[in-house]
Amino acid sequence: MEADRRSILKVLSRALRLRCPACGRSSLIQRPFHIKHHCPSCRSLFKREEGFFVGAILANVITTEFVILVVCLVSLLVVGASYQTVLVGLFILALIFPLLFFHHSWSLWLAFDYLIESLPKYKEIDPR
Ligand SMILES: [Zn+2]
Repeated sequence: MEADRRSILKVLSRALRLRCPACGRSSLIQRPFHIKHHCPSCRSLFKREEGFFVGAILANVITTEFVILVVCLVSLLVVGASYQTVLVGLFILALIFPLLFFHHSWSLWLAFDYLIESLPKYKEIDPR
């Protein structure tokens, strides 16, 4: 159990640093808003079958909605900002946060998938 918890913390730490969830040696990011096809170190496949990206979108939407809810409640109940100001701020937050969270939504989705069923290895097809 202790080893499992350490392993989960290790995978989550790699996800927060945008590293491969399997080995942690390589970045997930090829260039801004582009995830690598597979890990060059351990060959874990990041881009799997069609539709796999929906999980990353789901992680992004759920996190964005949670952040908007928390900011809304804190702004209205703790800070006491006006409703009009809060709405404008939340609108701007709803536009910017998903873009800023794009890479982390992918890394969290891959980490979740790695913890549940491990990532398949990429096998190059021999052109001969
Ligand atoms: Zn790797």
